[in-house]
Amino acid sequence: MKKVSYVLLIFLLLILFVGVFAFINQDKLVDRFISRQSDAVSFRYELLDMDGTIKLVTVGTGSPLPGDRVRSCNAVFVGGKFFVFDVGPGASRAIESLRLPLDRLEGIFITHWHADHYMDLPELINRSWLMNRTNDLHLYGPDPLDTIVNGMRQFLEVENHFRLDHHGPEIIDIDLGLPISHLITLDAEGYSKVYDRDGVVIEAFGVNHEPIHPALGYRISYKGKSLVISGDTKRSDQVIKYAKGADILLHEALGFDLIKRAIVIQEEKGNKRNATILTDILDYHTSPKEAAEVAAAAGVKKLILTHLGPAPENPISRRFYATDLEDIYEGSVLLAEDGDIYTIE
Ligand SMILES: [Zn+2]
Ligand SMILES: [Zn+2]
Repeated sequence: MKKVSYVLLIFLLLILFVGVFAFINQDKLVDRFISRQSDAVSFRYELLDMDGTIKLVTVGTGSPLPGDRVRSCNAVFVGGKFFVFDVGPGASRAIESLRLPLDRLEGIFITHWHADHYMDLPELINRSWLMNRTNDLHLYGPDPLDTIVNGMRQFLEVENHFRLDHHGPEIIDIDLGLPISHLITLDAEGYSKVYDRDGVVIEAFGVNHEPIHPALGYRISYKGKSLVISGDTKRSDQVIKYAKGADILLHEALGFDLIKRAIVIQEEKGNKRNATILTDILDYHTSPKEAAEVAAAAGVKKLILTHLGPAPENPISRRFYATDLEDIYEGSVLLAEDGDIYTIE
């Protein structure tokens, strides 16, 4: 009992001491708090280290189906450069939350013009600019890139000029408020080398996401390492061709078996619209088993499934994604989560 009283007394004295210390130093503590709040965000610049690796951050792993996941977005750090592949809804905010170095963003690559892949584009361009990006931002994408860029220019210019009026040209470089656009056109083989600088090569290839045409996948190569992003596609031989021997294949996958059961349930409920949309979806996406077949045929080292819908947030829905794949593909199969980081060393 006596021992307990001593502990209690020491505890109370400690609280008293902390209270008195905080009271005496309250101005300093408030200043420190305000200083931290008003400083630039503490970005994770170490991701830009030139350590010979390719780092993939699966920022958004959701699909257009309802769910809490951020929609399609992947950040890639390679050779001291920061690129983003697709900017689905929620992506820009998630990139900031993950403290990815927005002020060093160099390029945005879009796979195709479905809303779940580009709705956050103006937001990301604007946020990187306001976060003091001092380099040009390059936007790469397929047709109709010009239509998107023209609309976005009108959309952003109002805000950009207000910022200039507020802070003046010393602070605001109006020219950096909009991206430099690069239309990707594929050759007869469905291929285009998009980027080749400082040892970093980014190639685009056409995939099968009809009626969207073209829809692209990307291969990022650096110092003998490679990462392939399928984009949205049905099972595609093009992915097999361009993913040959890749260290990571990040492939889209929808829970086909789960969706097929949902179609039956929606039909039973008389909800024809939902049943029709879910049936259509199966025509332009890939099942987990098909993604595993592609990974096996391409001989990739690791398969990561993303664009997961319905999102596998519990053991029941996870079961529909990553089971019975080991007979098809020997490598490891992972389900991407928002904010995961993978390093190819
Ligand atoms: Zn999609
Ligand atoms: Zn799509």
